[in-house]
Amino acid sequence: MPGRLQNKVALITGAGSGIGLESSILFAQEGAHVALVDINGQAVQKTHKLISERFPNVKSVPIQADVSKEDSVKNMVDEAVKAFGRLDIMWALCAIQFNNAGIMHPEDDHALNTEERIWDLTMNINVKGVWWGCKYAILAMRNNPTDQSKGLHTGGSIINTASFVALLGAATPQLAYTASKGAVLAMTRELAMVHAREGIRINSICPGPLKTPLLMDFLNTQEKKDRRMVHLPMGRFGEAVEVARGALFLASDESSYVTGTDFKVDGGLSSCY
Ligand code: NAD
Repeated sequence: MPGRLQNKVALITGAGSGIGLESSILFAQEGAHVALVDINGQAVQKTHKLISERFPNVKSVPIQADVSKEDSVKNMVDEAVKAFGRLDIMWALCAIQFNNAGIMHPEDDHALNTEERIWDLTMNINVKGVWWGCKYAILAMRNNPTDQSKGLHTGGSIINTASFVALLGAATPQLAYTASKGAVLAMTRELAMVHAREGIRINSICPGPLKTPLLMDFLNTQEKKDRRMVHLPMGRFGEAVEVARGALFLASDESSYVTGTDFKVDGGLSSCY
């Protein structure tokens, strides 16, 4: 049976860990050829090795890039286009782009204590990284063929990782992070509207608290973990692969009429009081 992303090319940022790692594996398992991007060169090589061994029919390209630098983002898309662009006419070039890389600064990010350097670093990676990721993906996707006959988009699907904190006021102080994720939601909605008629769908995904290094390093004591747990309706942290499954839906043609949405994978957190 063909995979749900057969003959597609996906570029995934933050592919060295957590959601990006699990999405890279899942997308490859579903038949996508993957451009794996991370600032951590060793981590992205590890993901590449794992995918090459497990899915020999899938082409995987590791790319070291810093999403907070425009040149670096342009280069990563150019490299993906170079690697996949001419292999088969049916391949939708960079058909899927998952702008997922992000940070939660480990220092105090409370409004009264946070510093401009924390704010700027967070905004550079979480907001500018998504903006540039969208910009260069859209420019590449404009060259994709559109299959009007099937009524399915082939222009492309962009997924931006936001967070449940963009929807709720979190009691844990992480102001720059929260503001950055709110910006991701706002940008996603506007870009989705502007590019809808080009066959490019743009959605954000809002993960709840997950058992990944990003959050586990932040909640670095059992007491902090227990305090967060009280708010989790399912009584557990989510797994990165559970978010990857949501991203798979948004990446695939199964979500062909979905754009501009914020897709929650938060274990019910944003619905609870
Ligand atoms: P993670 O720390 O496990 O993985 C993030 C990856 O991004 C790392 O491999 C890191 O090297 C990479 N990265 C960081 N800065 C980068 C840069 N400038 N350029 C390129 N790559 C960079 O984190 P995760 O939990 O998988 O988080 C992924 C996304 O999900 C982030 O945007 C995060 O804000 C969001 N998110 C996470 C949670 C959670 O609880 N873990 C909840 C909501 C949203």
